[in-house]
Amino acid sequence: MPSLASIAEQELSQLEQQHRRRYIVSVEQYGVYCHKDGKKLLSFASNDYFGLAQHKEVKQAAIDATSRYGAGAGASRLLSGNYPLYETLEAELAEYKRTEAACVFGSGYLANLGVISHLAGPRDLVICDKLSHACIYDGIRTTKALWKRFRHNDTKHLDYILRKMRDHYRRCFIITESVFSMDGDCAPLQEMTQLAKDHDAWVIVDDAHGLSIVPHHPGVDLTIGTLSKGLGSYGGYVAGPQSVIDWIKSKARSLIYSTALPPAAIGASLKSLTLLRQEPQRVDRVMRSARLFCSQMGLPHPTSPIVPYRVGSEPDALGLSQQLEEEGVYAPCIRPPTVPPGTSRLRLSFSYNHTLTHVNQLIRTLHNAYDSHLIHAA
Ligand SMILES: *Cc1c(COP(=O)(O)O)cnc(C)c1O
Repeated sequence: MPSLASIAEQELSQLEQQHRRRYIVSVEQYGVYCHKDGKKLLSFASNDYFGLAQHKEVKQAAIDATSRYGAGAGASRLLSGNYPLYETLEAELAEYKRTEAACVFGSGYLANLGVISHLAGPRDLVICDKLSHACIYDGIRTTKALWKRFRHNDTKHLDYILRKMRDHYRRCFIITESVFSMDGDCAPLQEMTQLAKDHDAWVIVDDAHGLSIVPHHPGVDLTIGTLSKGLGSYGGYVAGPQSVIDWIKSKARSLIYSTALPPAAIGASLKSLTLLRQEPQRVDRVMRSARLFCSQMGLPHPTSPIVPYRVGSEPDALGLSQQLEEEGVYAPCIRPPTVPPGTSRLRLSFSYNHTLTHVNQLIRTLHNAYDSHLIHAA
């Protein structure tokens, strides 16, 4: 019998041949720059859209929370891990999302997993957007519900599935993202919530990339989000009606059987949320950069700080990303299975800390790389 190590080696070389092997490299972030492989790069790779992860006051809040409550929480929130900052953050998240209550999880991934697996049961129907994030699929797969996918942002297709199938199931959940993580486009929440009403279904929206970008939609039943992107900290949450949140707190396994977050993460999240509410110019500025880039590159008007630059094949996208890196710009390449085959791309994310000079440097570098490599963007 071959050893586990030799099986792994075989699998890895196959991934390498398919241009699908992934490497985790050490990256040190400072402002909009990062050190990667010993090289200083202008980064368009971070989801810290509003520049809060490196903010002085946010870092200080993390230090203060650590000093007061310790480096770790020591236990699950349901035992002794629920130090007082949790309650404050949950109240503020609920208020910000205009819902009655919120529950903080260990991460956005754990929130999706815990909420979906708790809510959907054997006689239920779950319908999600085809481009939903991996953790939505993972949540759905842990349930015994029947699940269907509708074509990306296609409410006609969603309506078709609802008409055909809704009546045969007990409860029905429609799941989508407010801002899609790899495409940067937004879900048509108005139409979707109307369809949900018409067909007696509930809408769950993953707002991981939409915080402060997409306004809360009153027809949405539950919002799932992360503290790890726009808020520059770590953790996840779900926001909705009080009774639903209480029910989740009693049942969601990824909440109950996992240790509470380190106090630093909650302290930092609280400060970030305060800053974001006080300084709406953070949002305006990041959108200005995305708009400048798109108009200069002839791309569609952006609706979020995420802009996909589609290339097509995996080697072409990898090649372009590597060439940009040689020129001092970090624009990560996203490949299948994260995105559908043939749509490999650079995923650019803009930040509050990018100046117009930084955006122009990206445009210039991309033009140069493009000319020398004769890569055709789709
Ligand atoms: C990043 C992401 C998550 C996971 O959030 P984490 O806090 O990083 O675990 C969930 N959903 C979407 C759409 C995401 O992009």
